[in-house]
Amino acid sequence: MTSDHALDTTLQHTGLAPFDPRTESAPVAVPIMRTSTVRFRTLDALDRAQAAKADPTQRSITYGRSGMDTHAALESVFCELESASQALLAPSGMAAISLAMLGLLDTGDHVLIADSAYGPVRYLEKTVLRRLGIQATFCAPTLQELERHRKPNTRMLYLESPGSLLMQMLDMPALAEFGRRHDMLLVTDNTWGSGYIYRPLELGFDVSVVAGTKYVAGHSDLMLGAVMSRDPHVNRRLHENHYALGFSISADDAWLALRGVRTLPIRMRESAANALKVCEFLAARPEVSRLYHPAWPQDPGHALWQRDCTGSNGMLSVQLRLNPVQARAFVDALTLFGIGFSWGGFESLVQLVDTSALKSHSYWPQTDDALVRLHIGLESAQDLCADLAQAFNIAARV
Ligand SMILES: *Cc1c(COP(=O)(O)O)cnc(C)c1O
Repeated sequence: MTSDHALDTTLQHTGLAPFDPRTESAPVAVPIMRTSTVRFRTLDALDRAQAAKADPTQRSITYGRSGMDTHAALESVFCELESASQALLAPSGMAAISLAMLGLLDTGDHVLIADSAYGPVRYLEKTVLRRLGIQATFCAPTLQELERHRKPNTRMLYLESPGSLLMQMLDMPALAEFGRRHDMLLVTDNTWGSGYIYRPLELGFDVSVVAGTKYVAGHSDLMLGAVMSRDPHVNRRLHENHYALGFSISADDAWLALRGVRTLPIRMRESAANALKVCEFLAARPEVSRLYHPAWPQDPGHALWQRDCTGSNGMLSVQLRLNPVQARAFVDALTLFGIGFSWGGFESLVQLVDTSALKSHSYWPQTDDALVRLHIGLESAQDLCADLAQAFNIAARV
């Protein structure tokens, strides 16, 4: 398939099972091809496969770790989603972030990291990057602050838009231009957009990292990460490191993710529509002091969202005029929202954010309000709003 078609079309026609040349028939879905060992009929055939491995644009399999047809199909889907020429699969989103950092940074390099990036990135920095002699600065993702913290050895700009927890929209093209001017590699966590509603490589970034665990898989039943890129030099570095570090995912998980991606468009659209209805309900509540959701017209990132994104999803955060005891009672009283981390599945979730963790986010207004992050799933929005309303009533009595 080519990009002559709408992405919705391409997603249904990429990574299908090829026709059997004998019967000229095929199942629609690629079979789950589980393997560790690949066997060759002759040494000549093995030699040809080995030789082909020297060309990173070719997929040549001599051993199961790099995955077979099921993996190849999922990689091609990720390439379409992100308009990339290479997609590398990793066993989790966090593993994909590690691959991007370890694959592209050297000892003595410095990386600028947005203070709104996914929390565990700080843990990666503290436990691994620092030990390897890679310096990092977490700062506000504004041109002014990035310029202030830039060093002669800054090799990478690592961002997330919208940012974790507060959905802070970033001006990706402007940030890409800044990074490129200073010879930085531009890496972004695009889990929010998952390639479907936000396409960082088209906005000037070199590398897009996606936790497929979230919307791509879509059913809260597997862990998956992917690293997409299209510059030949970047592709080669990432490819070599992917191989050297031994990242591999099971064919079953690749197959489930492929199944998930077929309905990515409708799941995201439905979650996004529900989230807007929930925003409308929340905006009218006296307990709500602010909504964080870029598709909501009052969100400060709305104009950037309109310019750079083609859709939205079910992620939203709500700042509440509730004391900590009331906030806990509110969350406990919800019946349709599971209390849990993660998002992007079919179901609604709630997370009571530890606001002490937000102190380091420049976007947080440093209030005493509570912050609740919601993932709006595929339930009826009316039922979700009724659930929120009854939980507010219970919190008010505390
Ligand atoms: C969940 C998440 C990750 C990590 O993905 P895992 O598969 O859970 O390791 C990375 N980035 C963002 C923005 C996430 O929400």
